[in-house]
Amino acid sequence: MQLQKRKVMKKLDIILINPRGFCAGVDRAIEIVEKSLEKFGKPLYVRHEIVHNKVIVENFKKRGVIFVEEVSQIPVGSTAIFSAHGVAKVVENEAKEKSLNYLDATCPLVTKVHKAGIDYKSKGYEIILIGHVNHPEVVGTMGRIEPPVHLVSSIADIANLNISSDKIAFITQTTLSMLDTKDIIEALQHKFPNIEGLDNKNICYATQNRQMAVLDVINDVDSLIVIGSQNSSNSKRLKEIGDNYNKPSFLIDNLINIPFEALNSCKSLAVTAGASAPEYLVQDIISEIKKHYDTSVKEHHYTEENVVFHLPKQLR
Ligand code: SF4
Repeated sequence: MQLQKRKVMKKLDIILINPRGFCAGVDRAIEIVEKSLEKFGKPLYVRHEIVHNKVIVENFKKRGVIFVEEVSQIPVGSTAIFSAHGVAKVVENEAKEKSLNYLDATCPLVTKVHKAGIDYKSKGYEIILIGHVNHPEVVGTMGRIEPPVHLVSSIADIANLNISSDKIAFITQTTLSMLDTKDIIEALQHKFPNIEGLDNKNICYATQNRQMAVLDVINDVDSLIVIGSQNSSNSKRLKEIGDNYNKPSFLIDNLINIPFEALNSCKSLAVTAGASAPEYLVQDIISEIKKHYDTSVKEHHYTEENVVFHLPKQLR
C-alpha cells in the first residue's frame, strides 16, 4: 500500500479584535432599509450607499432597492432614504419639493456634529471642519451650516486659513484617525489660541473603540487584516494604524482578496472589521484562512459596546 504524504500546514495565530464591525449608526441605517422594504415595499430609493459596504449594497440591490446619487434621479412621490453619512439641507429641501416620503438614516452622531456647527455659527463663530474633501459626510455637514465653512484635511491646509475673527470653532468628520485629528487640532490651537471645538474623540464611540482596539494588539502581531470596503473611511483609518506600525496591512471586503502570499511569511495576524462590515464576512474570511493554515484564533476584547439608536418615527 502506498503511504500518503500528509501536508504539514504552516501555523498562524489569529487575534480577532473586539469591538469590530457594525456600530449602532450602521445597525440603525440597515434596519431603516429593512423595515422600509417591509412597510412601504418597492420601489424603494436610497440616496448614496446606505453604508459604505459593497456586500450590503449589492444584497439590497438584489432585493430591489434602487441606489441613486441625487434626489433628481428619484421619481416624484416615491419613498426614499438618506444614507447614514447625512445630507445637506438643500437635499432635504429637494426631497420635500418632490413630495418624497423620505426617511433619514443619518447617524445621530453625525447629526450631533451638524447641530454643533449650526450652534457655533448662530453664536457668530467662524467654523473649521476637519475632514476629507468630497467625503459624503463632509459634503453633508458643510451643506448644513451657513457658509463659509473652512475645510481642513491636513496640517498643511492650516497655513492657508485666512480667518481674522477671534471667535473660531472646529468640528470634525466622525470617522477620522484619532491620532491625525489630535495633531491637526493641536496645530489649530497653536495658530488660533482661542479656538473652541468638538473633538472627534468625544463624538463617535465606535471610531474611537475600533482604533484603540487595533492599537492595543498591533505590536503583538506580524500583520493586520481589516475587513471593509475601499470607500469606507473608518476602515481605511484602521488599516493606516497597521501601516504606521510598519506591519503589512490589508483592507479587504471579500475572501477572494485574502493576501495569502503575505500571510505565508507571518506567524501572527490581527483581524478586525470596519464599522460598516458585517460579521458574516469576518467569519467567512476566517474560515477561508483556516483552510490554508494550522490556526489558533483568540478573541481580544478592548471594551464592550451597548449603544443603540432609535429608528425614525415613521418606522416605530
Ligand atoms: S462610525 Fe460612528 S458616526 Fe459613523 S455611523 Fe457608526 S456610530 Fe455613527
